[in-house]
Amino acid sequence: MDFDITTKGKELFLTLTSISLLLMMGITTLLWWFVSPRLHEINDLLADFSLTALRIFYILLIFGTLLVYLTAFTERNFLIANFAVRMFIKILYPISESLGKLVGIDKEKIQESFVYVNNSFIKALRKKFKAKEILILLPHCLQNNDCPIRITNDINNCIQCGKCDIQDLAKLSQKYKVATAIATGGTLARRIIVENKPKFIIAVACPRDMVEGLKDVFPIPVYGVLNFRPNGPCISTRVAVEIIDNALKKLINE
Ligand code: SF4
Repeated sequence: MDFDITTKGKELFLTLTSISLLLMMGITTLLWWFVSPRLHEINDLLADFSLTALRIFYILLIFGTLLVYLTAFTERNFLIANFAVRMFIKILYPISESLGKLVGIDKEKIQESFVYVNNSFIKALRKKFKAKEILILLPHCLQNNDCPIRITNDINNCIQCGKCDIQDLAKLSQKYKVATAIATGGTLARRIIVENKPKFIIAVACPRDMVEGLKDVFPIPVYGVLNFRPNGPCISTRVAVEIIDNALKKLINE
């Protein structure tokens, strides 16, 4: 599958993770160097063994990082995409975010870049799904702030007045027969996922919620589409519906 969504911007996060990895290697080497005299005192073999283990760990780390870069930049599956997402979400994201903060990089820029990295891994998976296996998960803030219609239970309650993107998203949901849910928060989003048991999620959210969501729902693959916030955070936000349309066209195999 080849989405037309941009994954440009992933370089920032990949650069931060590379620096984080180098720092981790530097710190562990320094630690070993400090404790090695003690290890030699206990047993020479112990010191040699710990050094060899450290070297093997570094080789695996470098090899893994190279595969991650290949996957992210070529957007082809090097059998590491799933593992890479896990490693990035669980270990490298918090370290890279802290490093970014330390050097004064805007947190939201890092979050956006992480979403682009995630999307390049998702593209690399190149899988197709049945319509019923896909879930479109939308944030409530996409609904026009003044709209009195209750759409959280059913997006089809929208009377299609055209004041927000919910109108076109409801049409997409009907066109592709894909389940579409609107979540007012993380707890509800988790419940929707448990109930629907999707094999693939297209999620719309702001960078902060998207990163949290990606962490929460792993290992379900999530294609992250960031919303626009022309009226500020959480108020009448917008999304490029054609990107979701195009993704569904490429994703569905029936
Ligand atoms: S398009 Fe639907 S959800 Fe949006 S404002 Fe109109 S009725 Fe409300």
